[in-house]
Amino acid sequence: MMRPVLSREGREVLAQIAWANVLVAFDYDGTLAPIVDDPARATMRRGTRGLLARVAERYPSAVISGRAQHDAMLSFSDISLCALIGNHGLEPWRNPDDYEVRVRRWRRLLEDRLGNLKGVVIEDKRLSLAIHYRASREKKVAVAAIREAVAGLSSVRVISGKQVVNVLPYGAPHKGIALQRVRDQQGCDTALFVGDDETDEDVFSLDQPGRLLGVRVGRSRTSRAPYYLADQDAIDELLRVLLSARRTSADMRRESDAPTA
Ligand SMILES: [Mg+2]
Repeated sequence: MMRPVLSREGREVLAQIAWANVLVAFDYDGTLAPIVDDPARATMRRGTRGLLARVAERYPSAVISGRAQHDAMLSFSDISLCALIGNHGLEPWRNPDDYEVRVRRWRRLLEDRLGNLKGVVIEDKRLSLAIHYRASREKKVAVAAIREAVAGLSSVRVISGKQVVNVLPYGAPHKGIALQRVRDQQGCDTALFVGDDETDEDVFSLDQPGRLLGVRVGRSRTSRAPYYLADQDAIDELLRVLLSARRTSADMRRESDAPTA
C-alpha cells in the first residue's frame, strides 16, 4: 500500500533522510517536467527549476532520464547536478559496441513495419529506441502493431511507458543500476528517488530499506514505490521540504531579518 509522502508521516521520513548522507535523484519527463504532447517541448516550470537549482547546492543531486544524455543536458545547463544519466541508465558509461549495432538493426526493422502507421514516431537514442504513439488517433491499433513488431526482435527488453514503448538491449544496465552507481560514486549511504513511469520501477524494485526511499509521481496499485506524490505539480512542494530541511545560516539570517507582522 503506497503512502503519501507529503503527509505528516511522509514529511518526517523526508526530514530524516535529509539529515543522512543522501543522494537525491529524479526522473525528468513526468517528474520534474509535466508531460506534454510534444516531448521536444517538455520543460520544467520556472518555479521547479529554481527550487531544483537550490536543492542541487545543498544535496548531491542527480537526474536519471530515459532521454539521450545530450538531449536531457539542455535542460540542466545551469544546475549543478552531480550526475546526469541518460538512456534509462545506459549513459554516460561505456557499453558494449554490440548495443548500438542491435539498436540500428531494430530501427530498420521497425521502420519497415511501422513506417506507415500515422502518429507513430520512432525516436533513435543510439543505445535504445522509443516508439511514441501519443500523436496516434487510433491508439489501440497503434499499440497492437507496435507490440507485434517488437515481438519479432531478439535480445531485447521492451518496457511500456506513458504512450511510448521503450526498446532496450536485453541485459543492459537500468535505472536501478545507475542509481546505485551514482550513490556509490558520491559516497552516499542512502538515496531518495522520484519517478513516474515503468522504467522507474527498476529503481523502486531494488527494495533496499534504509538505502533507498522511492517516491512515485501518481498513486499506483502495481508500483513498488512505498511513497507517492499526488501529481506532478507536487514535486515543487517536495523540493521545498528538502530545502527547508537543510536550511543554511544565510537562510536563517534572512528569516530573522524579515519584519515580523
Ligand atoms: Mg518519466
